[in-house]
Amino acid sequence: MIKIMLIDVHTHIFPENLAERTLLNLCEKANNTITPIADGTLGGLLAEMRASGLDYAVICPIATKPKQFTVIIEEAEAISKGERGAEAARHLIPFASVHPADEARFSRLREVAERGIRGVKLHPYYQPCILDSPEMLEYFRCCLDLNLVVQCHCGFDVGFPFEPLCGPERVARVIREVPGLRFIAAHLGGWRQWGGTAEQLLGKDVYLDTSILPQDNDNRSAMSILREHPPEKLLFATDWPWLSFADGIEYVRKAGLKKADTRAILGGNAAKLLGVTKPAAW
Ligand SMILES: [Zn+2]
Repeated sequence: MIKIMLIDVHTHIFPENLAERTLLNLCEKANNTITPIADGTLGGLLAEMRASGLDYAVICPIATKPKQFTVIIEEAEAISKGERGAEAARHLIPFASVHPADEARFSRLREVAERGIRGVKLHPYYQPCILDSPEMLEYFRCCLDLNLVVQCHCGFDVGFPFEPLCGPERVARVIREVPGLRFIAAHLGGWRQWGGTAEQLLGKDVYLDTSILPQDNDNRSAMSILREHPPEKLLFATDWPWLSFADGIEYVRKAGLKKADTRAILGGNAAKLLGVTKPAAW
């Protein structure tokens, strides 16, 4: 059997000394409707990647204040330079985070690109913004000019009131207004707004990541998006530590797509998007 390349485009890690408390806080914020499957540390991530044979994982940090840009980009660089160990450097693809309210956001985005980081993570609930506002369209035009991938939380968030900041209709407007932007709409285009994804995003030039929560595993609207969106625009993701790699891979396989399409979703598409040319051995 040929080994297929596995790339998760959506994982989170937290500093060793804060991980436990951060995960507890996040669970509490979500009224304990979510449970982490791991400790949320870099070591925990690598251990599970190794166990599941994952080649690469994209790290998605979220600056909840503009000034956090610096520590986040420095950590990204430390990972890539091998300062967090050779395995981290070989298997992790850290993204940066530029807060939408940062006055220096455009020069920060330029710095991200100049430092060779391939994209930015955006989370409109933790970084308050309306996805298709004129300011955000400027932000996205800047990302397009710099060839940065945008990995964005989409849909409602389990930890916040259901206010539509970044649902599928707003994603649709972004991709209409900023054609060519490499935009990953997480959670199949909009967590708990999958009817909107079906109406607004199916077949469009937007990547959808496959991260879902275990309780959404049997959701038929979510699964039909996975079956109907162009397979070259779907990217395997877990939102680790909120879903295990094994369960995330199983979820993609459950769609019953053609073998070649399943392989593309599990890693091939992400490899092209991120400029990855070869698998990473353990
Ligand atoms: Zn996430």
